[in-house]
Amino acid sequence: MQVNLLETPIEFLKGIGPKRAEVLQKEFGIVTYEDLLHYYPYRHVDKSKVYKIAQISGESFYMQFYGRVVRYEILGQQRAKRLVAYFDDGSGTMELVWFNGIKWVEEMLEEKREFVVFGKPSLFNGKWNMMHPELMDPLTRAESPLPIKFQPLYNTSDKAKRMGVDSKVIAKSMFRLLLQIKELIRETLSEEIRSKYRLISMTEALMNIHYPESSEYLDKAMLRLKFDELFFTQLRLLKLKLITEQKVKGHLFAEVGEYFNNFYHQYLPFELTNAQKRVIKQIRADVGSGRQMNRLLQGDVGSGKTIIALFVMLLAKDNGFQSCIMAPTEILAMQHYENIASLMKEMNVTVAFLSGNIKSAKRKKLLEQLKAGEIDILIGTHALIEDEVVFDNLGMVIIDEQHRFGVEQRAKLWRKNRIPPHILVMTATPIPRTLAMTLYGDLDLSVIDELPKGRKPVITRHFYEKDRLRVFGFMREQIELGRQIFVVYPLIQESEKMDLLDLMAGYDAVSQEFPLPDYAISIVHGKMSTEEKDFEMQRFIKKETVIMLSTTVIEVGIDVPNASVMIVENAERFGLSQLHQLRGRVGRGAEQSYCILMSGNKLTTESKQRLAAMVNTNDGFEIANIDLRLRGPGDIQGTRQSGMLDFKIADLVKDEKLVVFTRRLAQELLKEDPELSAPANAPLKKTLELMLQRSAFYGMIS
Ligand code: ADP
Ligand code: MG
Repeated sequence: MQVNLLETPIEFLKGIGPKRAEVLQKEFGIVTYEDLLHYYPYRHVDKSKVYKIAQISGESFYMQFYGRVVRYEILGQQRAKRLVAYFDDGSGTMELVWFNGIKWVEEMLEEKREFVVFGKPSLFNGKWNMMHPELMDPLTRAESPLPIKFQPLYNTSDKAKRMGVDSKVIAKSMFRLLLQIKELIRETLSEEIRSKYRLISMTEALMNIHYPESSEYLDKAMLRLKFDELFFTQLRLLKLKLITEQKVKGHLFAEVGEYFNNFYHQYLPFELTNAQKRVIKQIRADVGSGRQMNRLLQGDVGSGKTIIALFVMLLAKDNGFQSCIMAPTEILAMQHYENIASLMKEMNVTVAFLSGNIKSAKRKKLLEQLKAGEIDILIGTHALIEDEVVFDNLGMVIIDEQHRFGVEQRAKLWRKNRIPPHILVMTATPIPRTLAMTLYGDLDLSVIDELPKGRKPVITRHFYEKDRLRVFGFMREQIELGRQIFVVYPLIQESEKMDLLDLMAGYDAVSQEFPLPDYAISIVHGKMSTEEKDFEMQRFIKKETVIMLSTTVIEVGIDVPNASVMIVENAERFGLSQLHQLRGRVGRGAEQSYCILMSGNKLTTESKQRLAAMVNTNDGFEIANIDLRLRGPGDIQGTRQSGMLDFKIADLVKDEKLVVFTRRLAQELLKEDPELSAPANAPLKKTLELMLQRSAFYGMIS
């Protein structure tokens, strides 16, 4: 059947075969003809102009010349054997050199002498030469059905090149494929959208992204393909949201009862901020609607998200449901547990803790209690997702995270009850708008844009290694004032050993400066057991120690109000949102707090910019934007695993406007035609169906 031609395995494409097909699949995930079509070049070389040798000025780029090979000779022996052709275009001469394929070149040169030559000239011994240029017959070039004006360059890997798949091979295969299947390319957009926004057709876009007719057409092709990527991402997310809203029943939390009210009136240790009150109202409206809540809560570090989680869980309890909080690390989960258990001390609410380290009899008992409905609030790590964790009646799931999950992972928690529980995702630090739209585009959004009253902004300073003694002096002053100090060392997965060495070297230096018995120091790192970590944390919390040295295990969420100094070692090795998160560990008590960023004496411009951003602003939303701009979405912590940001051509930073635009368009479209059943929308519906079929999530709810 014709339609299936696009699904043909790539090995059947002329010039590919089974060996190269295997390389294409392993290295670039290209399996079918269609996959190859969507493997876009990273740049093009302009072949639309013919230059004169006399015009060459630098050594920088690929150029095309037209002239005669005056003579050629074969020089050298064995590995140094080469063919040198002397090329003249009337304005000057150039040496063309081949080390490989000598026989084939010789045959070409025997046949004729006039060529279009394409390659990158370089200066050698005062003469222009070109290594392995492309030789084209000027006649066949002109007759070619698709004259190549811009040569596409494709990303390859060393391994692929060794196996005979280089950019040229991909370019040639692409050319053949395009000629073969261009009539079969499916249009994904409706005529209406295309004409309204002046987008070229999918066929034109694919032809021109690989072999553009002009640079204008290349731009048009890029726009069209970016538009497709972003628009369908949004359409998919919003469609999922719509399906959830329409088809998925949610637990009805009809009443605000005694648990919620009791806590609010008797045990809440502070006044809620207006932003906190507003968010609680939004959530109450959701859970009182009879539909399932799927909401993202964004708020800066220290804005008080935990207490919101607690209120929401009390609301669940009031309505006869269990709740759980899932946190990214064991320490954070433990801290949530202790915090919430102590707030619930006087109330008749059962709070329990579960992680991978809770084992055997203790675990068994806990799981039984959970199933029997004897536990109201379960707090823990990823261990909560496991199948053996069965609730009696789970109504509310809270995920406290640092953007680590995608749509599909979140969906796993849905299965924990026959009617899926309400879901509240809380991010540890704010994330930029385009990223939120993409990673969490299927959720409703709440924002806490206000910090609790009386917070003094943390003062941030950047010091170089050479200033170390001044920093020690400052630490001593602060300890004399009765404060405690965090010192954090980077953790880089590739070399845990090195990290530990860094930490231990730091420990030696710090304990020499701050010796016992005047100063006691805690140390926490990933190689310690949970009990050891907990023991050290507790010593610090109880003020038995004044300095806490650690790797980033303390990164998220830890709350020690008396600690007023955060020192980050090798701060240049951290991401901005991570630094902001670390800084958020201080400034929680009444005292003026400080964040000191230590760095090596030599820094790259980007590192300097990042550290300067930290010194200049305390606003997490602003920092999130700077982070995205400087490092791109792929580098922002935790986003890579989600797979949601694997765009081929769109860029969440450069194409911000297009992200916002396509989201709005998708919203309007679904509002008008939620089922996409209008004939005009048929191509959209088809594309979306193909996308959703691949999504495990959709299978659960459709
Ligand atoms: P985050 O949003 O970073 O998770 P937390 O929930 O840990 O912040 O809250 C930070 C600190 O602020 C905690 O010590 C918490 O008890 C306190 N807090 C939260 N809300 C308020 C408030 N409205 N007024 C005063 N302190 C508050
Ligand atoms: Mg928190």
